[in-house]
Amino acid sequence: MSSLNSNIDLKLCTRCILPESIPGIKFDESGVCSYCHREESAVAKAPEKREEYRDKLDQLIGQVKGKAPLYDAIMAYSGGKDSTYTLKVLRARYDMRLVAFTFDNHFLSPAAMENIKKITDRLNVDHVLFRPSWPVLKEVFSRTAQEDIFPVPTLLRASAICTACIGFVKGLVLKAALEMDIPLVAFGWSPGQAPIQSAIMKTNPALIRQNQQVFKKSFPQEIGKKIESLFIPDRYFDEYADRFPHNVHPLAFFDYDERLIVKDLEELGWQHPKDTDTNSTNCLLNAFANRMHLNRHRFHPYVLEIASMVRQGVMGREEGIEKIYAEQDPKMVEYAKKRLEL
Ligand SMILES: [Zn+2]
Repeated sequence: MSSLNSNIDLKLCTRCILPESIPGIKFDESGVCSYCHREESAVAKAPEKREEYRDKLDQLIGQVKGKAPLYDAIMAYSGGKDSTYTLKVLRARYDMRLVAFTFDNHFLSPAAMENIKKITDRLNVDHVLFRPSWPVLKEVFSRTAQEDIFPVPTLLRASAICTACIGFVKGLVLKAALEMDIPLVAFGWSPGQAPIQSAIMKTNPALIRQNQQVFKKSFPQEIGKKIESLFIPDRYFDEYADRFPHNVHPLAFFDYDERLIVKDLEELGWQHPKDTDTNSTNCLLNAFANRMHLNRHRFHPYVLEIASMVRQGVMGREEGIEKIYAEQDPKMVEYAKKRLEL
């Protein structure tokens, strides 16, 4: 086992792995946290819900498959294990016409890029790679590395760097779906990243427009002007109002076991990258983003996600602790820092 960093000195929930540094967290006399208590009934109802959502997805796909001009679904594809597995499920179980969309943030691991090419070919999926220019992204990441520019609730679940990237991905993939008239947008969120209640959802133009405005306004003005092309143009919300797709993230309701997933993917030719940190299988910026978040907040940006998976029984507690509290390779933090000239 690798050495644990200073975070482990914090008191952890005895059931999940949340630390006492999470804002507002409380512990009962046996050391179980308020998040665990709050989610007890949801966890108990999960098996039933999962079945309900699998039926729902079958129905939705039955309704849309084969009707759109080009593709049945567009997948936000990072090349990591979760989105690769989701892509596989959509092809193998539903035989959909798919296009995969990758946002290259200039820190995409070369091993992940190899995986992307191999997997999209093996699964017979078209692929689009979108790579914004480096000076602009460098400015975005330098700023978000040093400052939490987004609303506080988002920072419970992701570092500011990750929040920026995810915001761009969501906007760009929706923009592509609108332009190509694609009825489904698929994401590879793990069962800990997003609740099952949001796993199948029709996108709402007014709501998305509003969210996009909030996200855009979080950036300082001088950056905001340079990232205009990464957002959905205002006129799309009216012009394409009847094209707004459903968002789906099937891993919330399909069986999730990290070891089995990796084994399954390796049979397809996917290889576990050796150049990423324990919480990512595609991004070389993640270790640095996590470090900066830890320095500012004293809790790991992935801890809510991993704690939720421990609670749901899809990951062991020890494994969760190792993922979150193991010391990361300082070389990876340095690598990103150097490229961002910080
Ligand atoms: Zn807990």
